[in-house]
Amino acid sequence: MTDTTELTLLRNALDKLAEGYSDLPEFSTEFDAGAVGDVLQEVATRMHDNFPYYHPQYAGQMLKPPHPVARIAYAMSLWVNPNNHALDGGRASSAMEKECVIELGRMFGWDGPLGHLTGGGTMANLEALWVAGRLHPGKRIVASEQSHYTHSRISEVLGLPFSPVAVTGDGRMDIVELELLLREGNIGTVVATIGNTGLGAVDPLPDLVALQSKYDFRIHADAAYGGYFGLAGQLHDDTRAVYDSLAAVDSIVIDPHKHGLQPYGCGCILFRDPSVGQLYKHSSPFTYFSSAELHLGEISLECSRPGASAVALWATQRLLPLVREGEFAAMLNDCLYAARDFWKRLRDSKYFVPLMEPELDIVVYAIDAPDSRSASERARRVFSKAAEHDLHLAMIELPVQLVQRYAPSIKANSETITCLRSVLMKPEHLDWLDRIVEVLELSAAEIT
Ligand SMILES: *Cc1c(COP(=O)(O)O)cnc(C)c1O
Repeated sequence: MTDTTELTLLRNALDKLAEGYSDLPEFSTEFDAGAVGDVLQEVATRMHDNFPYYHPQYAGQMLKPPHPVARIAYAMSLWVNPNNHALDGGRASSAMEKECVIELGRMFGWDGPLGHLTGGGTMANLEALWVAGRLHPGKRIVASEQSHYTHSRISEVLGLPFSPVAVTGDGRMDIVELELLLREGNIGTVVATIGNTGLGAVDPLPDLVALQSKYDFRIHADAAYGGYFGLAGQLHDDTRAVYDSLAAVDSIVIDPHKHGLQPYGCGCILFRDPSVGQLYKHSSPFTYFSSAELHLGEISLECSRPGASAVALWATQRLLPLVREGEFAAMLNDCLYAARDFWKRLRDSKYFVPLMEPELDIVVYAIDAPDSRSASERARRVFSKAAEHDLHLAMIELPVQLVQRYAPSIKANSETITCLRSVLMKPEHLDWLDRIVEVLELSAAEIT
C-alpha cells in the first residue's frame, strides 16, 4: 500500500520546510511516543474495516486515491497547518489557492473568474445557488431528475422553490420538458449537470444556452464529478460540444477530490462575473472584489478552511498541468476507454445487460431476469458475491422504464430496479478489466 519512497519524500520536504524557520529559538512539541504508537496501531486496525478504495478491484462508488504528490504535500503542510480563511492564517497557501483557481478557470476558458476552494461539491453548489438566489430572489431552481440530490436540499436550505426536470433515455436532461417549465415562467436558474453522479450522463448544455435567447435564466454547471473531462481528447462529439460551451455558463462547481487526485475536503466554486463578490460583503472594512485582488475570506461562506487542500492541489497541478494532451489528460482518456471496453464486454455477457453507453467513466448494468423484482434481487446477490471475491461494486436504484429501454425482456413488477454500477475512475482499471469481468461472470454464475 505505502511505498518507503513516499515517506522519504515527506521527510525531505519537511527538512526543507524547517529551513524556513531555522532562525527561531529551538522549540518542539513534547509527546509520549510510546502511547501515541499504541494508539496508532489501534487506529490502523480500526481502519481495516474499509473497502480497499485505492485498489483497481474496487470498482464501485466514486472513490479515487489521491496522487502521492498530493498526499505528501498535504501531510507536509500540516506541520504549519495554515488556515485559508484569511491571509494572516496562511499567506503562502492562500497564494497557492488563487493560482490553482486561476488554472481551473483557464481550463474552462475563463480569464478572471471569482472563485475559491471549498470543503467539497456540496458547499460549492450551496454558494452557487446562494448567489443565484440573491440575483433572482424567490425564483425557481431547476435541475434534472438525475442531478445530485444536494440541489433540492440546498434549495430548501435557501428557501428557494425547486423543480426536477425529467431525463431522456440516455440520462440527460430532457430539453423539451425543460422548455415547458421555462414557459410557465419564474425560473431563475437551471442547473446543468456535467456528468451526473449516478449514470455519468452529461446534460445537453448547448441546447440550454440556446434557450437563453428566449428565456431569461442563469445557468449553473455542476461539474463536481465530470469537470476535468474537457481535457480528455477521446470524448464523443456531442459530449465534446458540451465542454466547449461551458465558458458560457454563469458558475461552475468542480471537485478536485473526485477526479483531481486530491484528498477529501477539496471542492471549488467559480463565477464567471467577479462582481458577484459584492454579494458576500460583510462588516469587514477592507474588501476588494476585482478578480486580481480577491481576498479569500471575503468571498467564501465557509470561514476556516484547510490551507493543506490548496497546498496539495497546487503541488498536483504543478506536477500534472491541466492541459489537453498532457499526462493528466491521458489518465482521463484511460478511464473513458476502460468504461467503454467494460460496457462492450458486458453487452457480450449472458448474465448482464449494460444500460446506456458510458459518456464518461460510469457504467450501469442490470442483471438479466424475467422480471424487475428478481433482477433487483439478483443484482444485490451479485454485489455480495463479488465482494466475497474481493471485487467491490456499487448499486443504483433506477426507474423501471429507464432500465427497460435497454433490457425490454425484464417485465415490470416493481417501480424501480436495482442495477449494478461501476465508476472506473482509476486509469489502472483499463488493465484490470480481464480480471474484473472474470470475477463478475463467476459471481453471476454462482448465484444463478
Ligand atoms: C459528488 C457530487 C456532488 C456533491 O459533492 P461533495 O463533494 O460530495 O460534497 C454534487 N454534484 C455532483 C454532480 C457530484 O458528483
